[in-house]
Amino acid sequence: MLIFTEIKSLQQKIKSLKNGVTIGFVPTMGALHEGHLSLVGKAKKENDIVIVSIFVNPTQFDNADDLTNYPKTIEKDLSLLKSFSCDIVFTPTPEEIYADDIQSQSFDFDGLEFQMEGKFRAGHFNGVGTIVERLFKVVKPHKAYFGEKDFQQIQIIRKMVEKRKLTVQIIACPIHREKDGLAMSSRNMRLTKEQRAAAPFIYETIKKAKIQFGTKNASEVVKWVENEFQNHPILRLEYVEIADEDTLLPVETKNPTKKYRAFIAVFAGNVRLIDNISL
Ligand code: AMP
Repeated sequence: MLIFTEIKSLQQKIKSLKNGVTIGFVPTMGALHEGHLSLVGKAKKENDIVIVSIFVNPTQFDNADDLTNYPKTIEKDLSLLKSFSCDIVFTPTPEEIYADDIQSQSFDFDGLEFQMEGKFRAGHFNGVGTIVERLFKVVKPHKAYFGEKDFQQIQIIRKMVEKRKLTVQIIACPIHREKDGLAMSSRNMRLTKEQRAAAPFIYETIKKAKIQFGTKNASEVVKWVENEFQNHPILRLEYVEIADEDTLLPVETKNPTKKYRAFIAVFAGNVRLIDNISL
């Protein structure tokens, strides 16, 4: 497994690959878990070589403490990727990516950026768009793999690819969960024992919401979820929303030809957890 920290040397390596070699790309922020590795596994099956980036992108954090506290486990990440037969890892510094101007560009994602995460994390999707476009231009992958855990992010990246006429194919991968249902996340390692024990309640509740959505309308289900969290001793609901998968707009009247998802963001102490479920 080759490890590059510089864009120039990574690009030289990519240029030296034989014509026709397909590149699968998995962008991550490290602190890798089985969810990330499932993306790497799928990329390995579908491409000749796999490139994984590990970069904690400062411009997508709306909260300075969240950035400072973001888990960093680079040695463990590299050994996991090696054991997974990853071909190339790209671990740039913020300066390598942004030079001396650590700022986002401004994107128009046709309104997708104003829903859900966009309402609560100012500038987050401009940061995501900036780094993902930059990485796509450096790596020039044929396919790039993203987890449905960040479903809104996938839709936004698809929109960016369409608007900027990029040639990469975006592959969505299912959410990997712990045995008790908690969606795997790098942030889970920051949970206290008590918070970790409480956290599966998030998925349990949206699973019940899915059943209710069979007979009730979206606003009734949203109210029910809000009520479930109202007096929770450990978890604080930030938002729950039932939205159209394509537009990400909240559902008003159900249309049997459309696909819907329930999206949720919850705080356990200062750790923010998100999840979603197809309805
Ligand atoms: P992150 O390192 O959190 O930026 O995540 C890198 C990629 O892994 C993103 O495309 C995430 O959506 C994906 N990912 C993170 N957690 C999971 C999970 N539990 N299941 C599937 N994909 C995930």
